[in-house]
Amino acid sequence: MSVLVVGSVALDTVETPFGNADSVLGGSASYFSLAASTFTDVHIVAVVGEDFPKKHLDMFDSKGIDTGGIVKEKGETFRWQGKYGYDLGDPKTLDTRLNVFETFDPELSDEYRNIDHVFLANIDPSLQLKVLDQMNSPKLVACDTMNFWIENKLSELKEIISRVNILMINDSEARELSGEPLITNAARKIMNMGPERLIVKRGEYGALMFSDEGIFFAPSYPLEKVFDPTGAGDTFAGGFMGFISSDQTIGTDKQNLEKDFKKAVVYGSVLASFTVEDFSVNRLSELKNHEVDTRLQAFMKLSNMD
Ligand code: AMP
Repeated sequence: MSVLVVGSVALDTVETPFGNADSVLGGSASYFSLAASTFTDVHIVAVVGEDFPKKHLDMFDSKGIDTGGIVKEKGETFRWQGKYGYDLGDPKTLDTRLNVFETFDPELSDEYRNIDHVFLANIDPSLQLKVLDQMNSPKLVACDTMNFWIENKLSELKEIISRVNILMINDSEARELSGEPLITNAARKIMNMGPERLIVKRGEYGALMFSDEGIFFAPSYPLEKVFDPTGAGDTFAGGFMGFISSDQTIGTDKQNLEKDFKKAVVYGSVLASFTVEDFSVNRLSELKNHEVDTRLQAFMKLSNMD
């Protein structure tokens, strides 16, 4: 089983109260892929510029991630610069340069078009649509976005949202998209836009999953060190979709459907808890399966009342 992801592969410059990182590997597809590769085969569709260091592609290769869909174009790689305050909540975006993403027009191979699980990671919704239009008949499509696209490409974004099974966004995005301050009201409005399932990520306050079956909540793992929250949301999505696409029985058996999706939310939270422990993908790219298992056990104990 495998998952196809389209999203940004970026060079980030990040400042947190605990330090800085300059032109390091970032991007929604990068975090997603590393997290999902814990469970399944991952194929990335993205574009980088001539300045993109080869060592990052080698690192993806070493994790078994298929980089055949990462095109190198003339020009500069997507760059994002952000700054976090002490609450490590939403960052202040200091600069976003789409660069080679501005003209990226992906043409998917037949192999990619037949992949069952698709994640439209945070990137221009027009690009998400271009990829979705080329897919043959995916079983499950999920997508993410951010305020930047809610403010700049709302009609394309609404079209994408109407065509996906799952939308994963953070709470400030849910409020902005729906125009509702209360998250439960925001969720109802967003579900009316089309998706069967909505996941609202709330940083250190956990994640909520809304579906016709009700609401499920998973806390965030209470960490002792947090350096940089960049990519936590994309990592959550990678853990979630990676688990769902790891076995063809997952997410298809009606009886276990809710249980599978709940487990996926917990895996998303577990994977995200590693990303924030270091800058860029440093922690994620070194992650071992036994560390994921150990943290999952610790996670399960968090709300166990026995
Ligand atoms: P997250 O912290 O999970 O919301 O995602 C952070 C990542 O998103 C960073 O590594 C950025 O490179 C990337 N990013 C920031 N702004 C955008 C944007 N407008 N489109 C696509 N990716 C972005």
